[in-house]
Amino acid sequence: VNDVVTESRVIEIPTDKLINRNPATGEVIGEYKIASPDEVRAAVAHARVAQAAWAQVPLRKRVAVIRRFMALLTEKKESVAATINAEAGKPRVEALLTEVMVVLDWARFCAQNAYRVMREESLSHGNLVMKTKRGMLVSEPVGVVGIIAPWNYPFSIPATETLAALVTGNAVVIKPSELTPNSALKLAELLHEAGVPEAAVQVVIGYGPTGSALISGGIDKVVFTGSVATGKRVAAAAAEQLIPCLLELGGKDAMLVLEDADVDVAASAAVWGAMVNAGQTCISVERCYVHDSIYTPFVEACADKITKLTIGNGADDDVCVGPMISTRQLEIVESQVEDARSRGAHVVVGGKRLPALGEHYYAPTLITGIDRSMRLMQEETFGPVLPVIPFDKDEEAIAMANDSEFGLAASVWSGDSGHGERIARRISAGAVMVNDVISQFGISEAPHGGVKKSGIGRAHGLMGLREMVVQKYIAVERLPRVKRLWWYSYGKQFEHQMLAFVDMMFAKGTSRLTGALKSTPALWRKRL
Ligand code: NAD
Repeated sequence: VNDVVTESRVIEIPTDKLINRNPATGEVIGEYKIASPDEVRAAVAHARVAQAAWAQVPLRKRVAVIRRFMALLTEKKESVAATINAEAGKPRVEALLTEVMVVLDWARFCAQNAYRVMREESLSHGNLVMKTKRGMLVSEPVGVVGIIAPWNYPFSIPATETLAALVTGNAVVIKPSELTPNSALKLAELLHEAGVPEAAVQVVIGYGPTGSALISGGIDKVVFTGSVATGKRVAAAAAEQLIPCLLELGGKDAMLVLEDADVDVAASAAVWGAMVNAGQTCISVERCYVHDSIYTPFVEACADKITKLTIGNGADDDVCVGPMISTRQLEIVESQVEDARSRGAHVVVGGKRLPALGEHYYAPTLITGIDRSMRLMQEETFGPVLPVIPFDKDEEAIAMANDSEFGLAASVWSGDSGHGERIARRISAGAVMVNDVISQFGISEAPHGGVKKSGIGRAHGLMGLREMVVQKYIAVERLPRVKRLWWYSYGKQFEHQMLAFVDMMFAKGTSRLTGALKSTPALWRKRL
């Protein structure tokens, strides 16, 4: 076994086999051999060979493969949702909504926009002396992209990143979370069936060390989604290899409910936004700031709605909130709620485990009486907890929302969309929604990513596709038989001429120009 030191304790992790369990029932749903560092390196080497061929496949054929994948996923949506439900615990309908549909729409976006990203662009030159060159930008795939994924969206996260990489001509090696390997295996199976060569999409299974083996295994870029703590290790390891990294990290998203918001609609949004996927969503509502004038009815509405949620195994039709992924994640949530309670916070609803349902259930929790010293306000909670905090002036709400080391997403709620938009512009986050929450993840055109400690780079949108290419500049000189004026040799006359050119291009007046131009033919003849 390897030892992995987390912030709070040392966890022993196996090096031979990985056992996958259903978080709702504890039932074993898969057993896998862990990929050794040599196997990871070999996977990357195979991917490199496959990538060279895949990049030569004409774009329209790669797009056709993506469209076949869409058709297959549409056909097999129920079994994919069932796979996700069985290993991540979320309700099947949520798996359809937040994973399958997100991936289908992203595949649609890739198919429609890959041409735009891969199209060669001509580049006109502003500099007078460079006008004899024809410039162009050529987009090329990065090469072999290593994708390290978390457990909370075990299908949609690796799928969106993989599709972006494939359509632009890259090969991919995916290291799924140790808690949810089946969804990534299902993704690879569907892609292979759609026509992606086996070696162009591979899955390596294991814990953190398998992820680090991937980063040092010869990849050209790492795309990481996970916690800030691991993200820092990934960035350091990528720096060691001098490869670029895209980091999609944690969040502490604020929801600002302004004086003129619809209380009932905003309360429904807060409850869904905080509890969807049992709160284990990077852009879930983690802090809800509500104007004093509507604070009491808002808290009452949230309490009422939370009490009505059905909690249980997400495989059952009526269940709204499933289990948490693991005991470890449950303990983090529990310790933050206890910290808040011990400092005077008031648990309005929930605030306890639900052992009668199983080992990993935590009651959807509404909590008030919060202040910024509490861990619940500082750290990512990643559980079904909705802290509600009153405010008096918009300025105060903006300051509290921005008072975080995270900056992933946020939402603003107002009956006046102009008012909401003005506040949205002042929130430090990668995305802010006015009168909606979380759904930007399902808008393929919208770039997804954070500021501050929430990450570096963007997934989704054109920016997400462009993360998977490198732009090469090519310049073709139109006068191949003419020597450049700035080549050797140098001398006083050449210096005068350069001074004149600088003046001509960047200074007012052209005093030196005439003399300089006169001497040009003579200088040209002197070029070595
Ligand atoms: P995590 O950081 O524990 O693990 C993420 C992945 O990294 C896993 O596959 C893990 O095995 C791997 N890993 C662990 N140590 C590694 C190392 N040293 N080198 C390389 N890989 C390593 O995160 P998690 O618990 O799986 O996911 C939850 C976190 O992910 C939350 O913080 C959440 O906010 C974040 N997240 C962010 C986004 C986003 O888009 N910004 C989306 C989903 C989840």
